[in-house]
Amino acid sequence: MLTGIQIAVIGGDARQLEVIRKLTQLDAKLWLVGFEQLDHAFTGAVKEKLKDLNMSTIDAIILPVPGTGTEGGIETIFSSEEVVLTEEILKKTPSHCTIYSGITNAYLDKITKNANRRLVQLFERDDVAIYNSIPTVEGTIMMAIQHTDYTIHGSNVMVLGLGRVGMSVARTFHSLGAHVKVGARKSEDLARITEMALTPFHIKDLEEKIQDIDICINTVPYPVVTAAVLANMPPHTLVIDLASKPGGTDFRYAEKRGIKALLAPGLPGIVAPKTAGKILANVLAQLLRNDLSGRMEDTP
Ligand code: NAP
Repeated sequence: MLTGIQIAVIGGDARQLEVIRKLTQLDAKLWLVGFEQLDHAFTGAVKEKLKDLNMSTIDAIILPVPGTGTEGGIETIFSSEEVVLTEEILKKTPSHCTIYSGITNAYLDKITKNANRRLVQLFERDDVAIYNSIPTVEGTIMMAIQHTDYTIHGSNVMVLGLGRVGMSVARTFHSLGAHVKVGARKSEDLARITEMALTPFHIKDLEEKIQDIDICINTVPYPVVTAAVLANMPPHTLVIDLASKPGGTDFRYAEKRGIKALLAPGLPGIVAPKTAGKILANVLAQLLRNDLSGRMEDTP
């Protein structure tokens, strides 16, 4: 249980509803900022404006998956008000207050560091990233179906990167009957790709390997699908870029060449917000219990 713990949930999309549900069930006291248009009420959760929140009692702050924008703005789909997290706000929290976010950026790193508050990035954890790859793959399949006039089965599919997302994508497209080539740079990854009965190639050979590909799925958060690579693609190739913004594709050149290239961020929150929210809720409940165990009221 999280009895006696006070948590500010600031902004977010439908995934946060699962987080709120789980944490209120665990008896935490929740302050919801940026949720005034949410019809649903949760026992144990109070809607509040950021400026009216007593930060000195807050043990933990939960931000949406993208964290903050580059100037502190927080996405709030259940509110039309602008919510901005600043260093000054964090400094009003008790020194043990921990900030949980999906990912971070230079702004969030800077304000948490200057305020001397701990920042936990949930998506750095392998368990979260692997669970989250499940709805990501389903969203990728949805996009492949929506944006092509041929089946995945029998198509030549290229996956770039064999990380937590790349492995799930490659395996699933293979099971759907695609001919899957995977580009990686580590020899152990090339060995694993072979073991998975897929076709490996070194990512430095991408320009040459792209020539017969129908669907190219990028998971590398680095500019790998360059103009030179796009120049060698068949015109009908669909590029689905899953890497976090700005992706790894030269979208300007793709448009110029008439190649359909789609940046597809946040697929779990789009195709399966409930599942994606549960993944976050479960790990947050576990982390909060561990991180704040000394502050919880004794429960019978
Ligand atoms: P990951 O486990 O770190 O995998 C990243 C992959 O990219 C690894 O194979 C890594 O290879 C490779 N890579 C990184 N830098 C490279 C470079 N300079 N050249 C060649 N290869 C490079 O990350 P992940 O969890 O799979 O996530 C991948 C991306 O998808 C991230 O940007 C993440 O934010 C994003 N994502 C998007 C969605 C969505 O809905 N679109 C959902 C989940 C995640 P090495 O091991 O050799 O470094």
